[in-house]
This record gives sequence, structure tokens and C-alpha cells, in this order.
Amino acid sequence: MAALEIVRIPVLSDNYVWLVHEPESGATMAVDPAVAEPVLAAAETRGWTITDIWNTHWHPDHTGGNAAIKEAAKAWGGCTITGPAAEYERIPTLDVQVRDGDRVRLGNHVADVWDVPAHTAGHIAYHFADAFADGGAIFVGDTLFAMGCGRLFEGTADQMYANMRRLAALDDATRVYCAHEYTLSNARFAVTVEPGNAALAARLAAVEAARAAGVATVPTSIGEERATNPFLRAGSAAELGRIRALKDAA
Ligand code: ZN
Ligand code: FE
Repeated sequence: MAALEIVRIPVLSDNYVWLVHEPESGATMAVDPAVAEPVLAAAETRGWTITDIWNTHWHPDHTGGNAAIKEAAKAWGGCTITGPAAEYERIPTLDVQVRDGDRVRLGNHVADVWDVPAHTAGHIAYHFADAFADGGAIFVGDTLFAMGCGRLFEGTADQMYANMRRLAALDDATRVYCAHEYTLSNARFAVTVEPGNAALAARLAAVEAARAAGVATVPTSIGEERATNPFLRAGSAAELGRIRALKDAA
């Protein structure tokens, strides 16, 4: 099976939309299109047509481009919008509602849907166990970030801790596609939580250099996050909640 081709599209101030192409079938999917125009342009440049949109949660910076992409897709046979069943009332453009345990197909590749509530009450993630020859990929929206996690807008530290445990159990090689470039701010905070973590100190230095050069720092990987992410490394829900409260106040 051919590997997925994944393109990062920076939009708004710090969002990433992911364009995912399955070369054998030609299917192309946009994850969390905040806006439509740059996503349509990125597909067109490559000769791809967007056949699917997958949303992780209802926030407008993840769904704002749904309607315009769907309208444009009428020119090539349409586009199916898949998203969280628990948030269907807040995503009026949804065609297909999914929940934990469901499987979603992109051509010859299949993703498992995970419920990861906490940032929003119905937030989901999409896990392709066989995205690449050497490992999987997971699209986590605003649940896990490089050295960070999403704010607890509609859920609890207990829920986010359960999400972190499930993510941490994936193979180290799994690539993590999050929806924002929050890495530098997260790294600067993370070193205050774990001042003795040498891997974290080294990563902060690398991220500072990358951002100074205008280079993106995601996708990340489960292995990198297991070594440097204080939220993924928290030993209890209470500890995660305490760290999250400190970050919110920072
Ligand atoms: Zn969000
Ligand atoms: Fe967001």
C-alpha cells in the first residue's frame, strides 16, 4: 500500500490545515480547514481534487472553510464532510457523523476514530495505523500539541489525562499532526515545569532556531512528546490539571 502524502498549509495566525492525499485512489482529504482558499489552491497546485473533509471539533478555526470547499467541490463530483457525532449541531455542514470505534476510509487507507473529549466535549482524533511504511499518523486537532495540550474549554483534567494515556501508548514513530504552531510558547513553559529535562532543553533550543528561521515545527512524534511534553508525562490527572492551570495563567 502506498504511503499517504501529507501537506501542511499554514493559515490564519497560527493554524495548520493538513491536506492528505492517497495516491492509489486519488482521494484527497483536508483536516480542519479553517478557511477554504489556500486549501483549494494547495490541492490545485498538485493536481488534486478535495474529495473529503475531516473535522476534529466544532471550533470555527477548524470548520470555517467547510462550506466553501464543499461548494467548490461540486465542480469535480463533490466532497464528503465527516466529523464528531457529539458536535453535529455545531457543525451544520457535516455529512457523516462518527464516534469512537468508527473507521473512516480515505482511498485504500483506513483511520480509526478516537473520542478525545476535553478541549471540546465531542472532540475526536483520526488514527491511521499504516499511514507510512515506517509507522502511523494521528490527526489530533487541538488535543495534543508539540510540548503542550489543548485548553480544557468543555472538559476536565481527568478526560485530558485519559487522552494523554491513550496517545502515549502509540508507537514512538507515530507522527502527530496538530492544528496549531504553538510549539515555541509551549516549550518555554515546559522547561519551567521540568527544568532538569535535558531532552526538553535541547528541544527548546532547536525550536527557537527553527522559529527564528521561519520553519514549522510540526508534525511531531509520539516519541518526541513522550520525552518532552509535560502534559503527556504527567503522572496523574491532578498533576496534569495543575500544569494546565499554570499554563493558562502564564
Ligand atoms: Zn479548538
Ligand atoms: Fe484551534
